[in-house]
Amino acid sequence: MNKNQIMRQELEKIKTNRLNAELKAKRVLLIARGEPEYNEIDTKIRQLKLKITKEDNPQKTAPLLKELQQLNNEANKVLVKIGIDPKLLIPRYNCKKCNDLGILNGKPCVCLQNAIQNVLITQSGITNHLKYSFDDCDEAIIKENKSLEKAYKIAKKYIDEFPKFQYQNLIFIGDVGVGKTFLLECMANELLKRSHYVVFSTAFDINKTMINAFNVSYNERETMLAPFFESELLIIDDLGSEPIIRNTTLSNLFTIINERQRLNLPTIISTNLNIEDIQERYGDRIMSRLFNKRICLAIPFTGKDLRMNK
Ligand SMILES: [Zn+2]
Repeated sequence: MNKNQIMRQELEKIKTNRLNAELKAKRVLLIARGEPEYNEIDTKIRQLKLKITKEDNPQKTAPLLKELQQLNNEANKVLVKIGIDPKLLIPRYNCKKCNDLGILNGKPCVCLQNAIQNVLITQSGITNHLKYSFDDCDEAIIKENKSLEKAYKIAKKYIDEFPKFQYQNLIFIGDVGVGKTFLLECMANELLKRSHYVVFSTAFDINKTMINAFNVSYNERETMLAPFFESELLIIDDLGSEPIIRNTTLSNLFTIINERQRLNLPTIISTNLNIEDIQERYGDRIMSRLFNKRICLAIPFTGKDLRMNK
């Protein structure tokens, strides 16, 4: 699902909540009105409310409002007497800010934003990962490693300027355990927090999904592959971990990277391979896309294995 579809879906859910809350309250009201004592006082209240809305002299409105207050108190007493909790007559909305309208002052309410974010996180694929974020970054450790420090600064700038950073794509190159995946997770989490549609996957899983997609119906395939082609940011972790299947893996990877570049959609890749390995494994066509200097910044990671410190 793209962001608009998610927004429509979640807004619909919130509005359904609203409708259900109102129906529930309405049902209780109908039951209460079945009791003559309550019905009588409720009729008085309605007539008085009508009178108040028609009255435009504020001096005359004040006593009417007082009378309304008294009637309401009385009505509540009657409700308690007939065994109905007066609170049940008021619709119980989930969101007190927008009363489950989803929209507040013409903008998505926080409740809608949160709902969208949850869907984005679920479909991003990072729910099963450790949820590192920039808040977890120990700047002292980062400063110990010059290449990590540099990458960290670029990553933060990339996020702050997203999607307008000088380079659309990044490629993190370096040995295992120098902080590439950690930094990618921080970036993904930060963008998700800001409600961007981010998809985080390993090259291995993307390859597997692309292969599985050949065995399903056209519609299912569209749904399966949409995250790779529609996400605002695709993060491919650990390029090189996937098995190369002849006539499949390379063309799939090329299709994703090429299509995303054509649509101006950013992609960030990490790999443990060095440039020579990448060249040899993926060939010129993919290499020229991955390392297109105009839109891609390659960031080398060097140093000792950070995970050894923990
Ligand atoms: Zn709300």
